[in-house]
Amino acid sequence: MHESCGVFGVYAPNEDVARLTFYGLFALQHRGQESAGIATSDGKQIRVYAKMGLVSQVFDEDSLTHLTGDIAIGHNRYSTTGSSRPDNAQPILVGEGDDAIAIAHNGNIINAEFLRQELSDLGYGFHTSTDTEVIANLILATHGKDWVEKIRNAMPRLQGAYSLTILTRHKLFAVRGPLGVRPLCLGAIDNGWVVASETCALDHVGASLVKEIESGEILSISENGIESYREEVGRRALCIFEYIYFARPDSVINGRLLYDARQAMGEELAVEYPVDVDLVMGVPDSATAAAIGYSRKSGIPLREGLIKNRYVGRTFIEPHQRIRDLGVKLKFNPLPQVLEGKRAVVVDDSIVRGTTTPQVIRLLRRSGAKEIHMRICAPPIRYPCFFGVDMATRWELIAARKSIPEIKEFIGADSLGYLSVEGLIKAVALPRDNFCLACFTGDYPIPVQLEMDKLALESVAVRRSEPPV
Ligand code: SF4
Repeated sequence: MHESCGVFGVYAPNEDVARLTFYGLFALQHRGQESAGIATSDGKQIRVYAKMGLVSQVFDEDSLTHLTGDIAIGHNRYSTTGSSRPDNAQPILVGEGDDAIAIAHNGNIINAEFLRQELSDLGYGFHTSTDTEVIANLILATHGKDWVEKIRNAMPRLQGAYSLTILTRHKLFAVRGPLGVRPLCLGAIDNGWVVASETCALDHVGASLVKEIESGEILSISENGIESYREEVGRRALCIFEYIYFARPDSVINGRLLYDARQAMGEELAVEYPVDVDLVMGVPDSATAAAIGYSRKSGIPLREGLIKNRYVGRTFIEPHQRIRDLGVKLKFNPLPQVLEGKRAVVVDDSIVRGTTTPQVIRLLRRSGAKEIHMRICAPPIRYPCFFGVDMATRWELIAARKSIPEIKEFIGADSLGYLSVEGLIKAVALPRDNFCLACFTGDYPIPVQLEMDKLALESVAVRRSEPPV
């Protein structure tokens, strides 16, 4: 399961803003590994450099040196809307002269196709297949005496999830959609301000957290300092998967360190699904904190049974069939010395399609584990996501097709326990109505019927062409 993107922005006169953005994106690499890009403005010209690849592959000294100015925005992409191709790399630049804006987007606009058609009819050209270009053109096309007014007037037309960094020739804007699905925060450095998807990126560039940007808030950052504008907010819907998996454990959301929240998920799992075993282990790295929580609550010793190759990222080299057959072996190496003859609780963050978990279990059994009891931080995922998470069609979600005992059989575990929605809410320690839980409950924060219908048709096509697992 992949999140869509990471965004970053800097306003800092006389600083090397491109380099700061590079390091910010580097810290946000986990949010998207397909492409990376930076846009800068020196007050006269906006420059953009964006390519396919990891942050460290896309930029070098030469490209950073050419990105001059006092303002920068950056983007890491995992494609959801729009296919994976170089044109779709962000930031996306539209308009010219004083009307030019560059924009970086994390989220998914569900009425993007409709808006694209409307804007095309008005004569706006599109060079990418992304919803980000739709947002950029919508802002450009919307009336308003200045950029803030244009953004404010455009926002009610955008349905879905969006956290944006926007750069004009003289200003940096940070915008978080009214639902607040994706996080966005503001930090301070000596000579200016930094905006990032997650607080971990602030830490990496030496910025101190000023605040988490509110749902429906627009920040305008310029030589006049920071101005904040707030749009009407109805229901909030922060994606609960930011807590479970997407965001880094050293990030803070809603004032809570995610490492602590994940430990609490493990503790709740230990309460809901106790079992008599010899050891607890997490599937690294995303379930490590939860495994610590399970161990602490249950009193069962924590061990490392799988070592993760930390340098496995997205590779653009197609694996040879022999390598492909090794499956998760590329990613994890088991420790038979730890597992031999042992009964283990194995904590993982989620089961989506159910393709990886059986491989992990087989790997552990081959290494001598006697019993494997899977404990999963996310409740069963039964509904697709329309807010920028590349999950699957409903047909592909294993929990939409199989009961929990059937999933247990399918993955080959001795027992299987999913954290309940109530347990999850207890672990994150905020009222339930702050969150989007739609992929567990089917209760979407905004109507998605049209998207559901479209997906249902796609699912039928998938079912016709591929037999189910
Ligand atoms: S549907 Fe699930 S993955 Fe998508 S935003 Fe809501 S909680 Fe997050």
